[in-house]
Amino acid sequence: MKPAPLTPREDVSPQKPIQLLLIEDEEAHAELVRRALQGQATPIDLMVARTLREAREYLNHTLPDLVITDIRLPDGSGIELLSPGISVSPFPVIVMTSYGDEKMAVEAMKAGALDYIVKSEATLNDMPHVAERTLRQWHEITERKRAEKELRIHAKQLVALSHLSHQVLSGIGIDALMKEAVHLITQTLKTIKCVKILELLPDRKTLLLRAATGGWSSRVGQTTSLTHPNPLITHVLISGKRVFAEDLHTDERFRSSLLTEQYGHSGVALPLSGRDRCLGVLWASSEQPWTMTNNDISFLESTGNTLAVAIERKETEARMRKLQNDLLQASQFSTLGELGTTLAHEVNQPITAIINYVRACQQMIMAGKGQVTQTICELMDKTVAEAERAASIIHHLREFARTGELHRTPEALNTVVYDASRLALGETTESDIKVNFEFSSQPPLVSIDKIQIQQVVFNLVRNAVEALTEAERKFITIKTISTQDHAVEVQIQDTGPGISPPLNDKVFKQRFSTKNEGMGMGLSISRSIIKAHQGDLWISDTPGGGATFHFTLPLSEIQPTHKETNN
Ligand code: ADP
Repeated sequence: MKPAPLTPREDVSPQKPIQLLLIEDEEAHAELVRRALQGQATPIDLMVARTLREAREYLNHTLPDLVITDIRLPDGSGIELLSPGISVSPFPVIVMTSYGDEKMAVEAMKAGALDYIVKSEATLNDMPHVAERTLRQWHEITERKRAEKELRIHAKQLVALSHLSHQVLSGIGIDALMKEAVHLITQTLKTIKCVKILELLPDRKTLLLRAATGGWSSRVGQTTSLTHPNPLITHVLISGKRVFAEDLHTDERFRSSLLTEQYGHSGVALPLSGRDRCLGVLWASSEQPWTMTNNDISFLESTGNTLAVAIERKETEARMRKLQNDLLQASQFSTLGELGTTLAHEVNQPITAIINYVRACQQMIMAGKGQVTQTICELMDKTVAEAERAASIIHHLREFARTGELHRTPEALNTVVYDASRLALGETTESDIKVNFEFSSQPPLVSIDKIQIQQVVFNLVRNAVEALTEAERKFITIKTISTQDHAVEVQIQDTGPGISPPLNDKVFKQRFSTKNEGMGMGLSISRSIIKAHQGDLWISDTPGGGATFHFTLPLSEIQPTHKETNN
């Protein structure tokens, strides 16, 4: 016999007869009950057992909806059916006592009987009402138990989720977090035997197994190509929707794959959804048929969301680190370029002079007609060749510094400005400076050398932050504005001391700085970068006090046709 469910049988309905077991050894009493039950609106299948043994035999193969038992039976007490101390009875029980046996009835109630009646013609006749009341009561009890059980599971899931969110906030490493998630899922949803978390790497072609249970855990860290056919995972990644397969053995969608051997009987695959793309898949499966409840789904979905946040955060951090490195490199190159120009200019002249001197010497010696040996001439030839070579190296260096080849690509300006500003602001958002982004709602595409423009924004925003050190009102506003003449303007506005008009041009000169540690190169480099992009960089006063730096860039010829999201 299958373990009896604690929920009421679903077939207790006006259409399906109620299975009632009456245990009564007195034929006359059994007959009274039988007659009373006849002609009821709800059909009743009555089974009468005369002894405990008969009753047990019946119960071995049938689970009744209701048991009504006499307490005194030829082979024992009806109370024994209530299996005291072992478990809750899987069916409701009403006990019947004779007049004067009420004490036993109280015992039966303590053991778990739902009701009792003292046998008389009247009470036996009233049996249909008693049965109906008891069934209602039983239904309520089982419903309450089911709700309590669900609540306990829900509470457990919430605790698991809050633990996971806490881990994310505390900055735990991504691998440890994924491992923790797998552990929490298997602990919380006991039916689940296999959990796998796959991350779709930023190249969008490679899947990385981040964490897994059991035999799979030895494969953690392995990657597979997305082109490798795995219909279920690919389906989730492309559609961004979850897939539930009740029976992987028969499910037509996935039969051709190796899934059934690998994944068990039934399972669910959920997308780990990021802001603008699917970041991976969370797979959970059971070796048995598994009926997912709403609680299970929302628990797995919330876990997936938490993991997606963690993956996105990791990616943003990596992007920021790379940006920081690129900017550092770009600033070193630019400084090198500026120094190279100066160096080339100053060294080129003496070298030209050396060449001229040596040539003159050569001519004079040649004119001396044989007074100088052939060997000296050859040596001097070599000197000239070497000096010419040095001059040409310097010439090339100067050309490079002058033309400063740009690597232009079409870029969404709002994103470029936002990323560089965030980097320059660093921790400032947590200090007392209020930063406000006002971006053009239709972000324009610009054809720019991204690294160089980010360097300009970085310089201007850093200057704005530094200008606010002593200021009373500390506000920075960063704007992108589409102008009418096919250009876009970026403004970095601060409420610092501002720049007095006589300095308006000076600040753009190399090595002009009013700061103790300043190199005075930032604005000069920024202006040459903007000029190389056919734009302009200038200063105005912020209304109410402060400096506003403006620069323009021509729009790219290719413009987005759809509305992009703003940062
Ligand atoms: P540095 O920051 O190393 O001094 P820059 O070329 O970036 O070099 O800036 C040159 C000078 O211009 C600064 O020393 C400062 O006097 C002035 N300056 C730049 N930005 C601002 C600003 N937002 N507000 C006031 N003064 C500024």
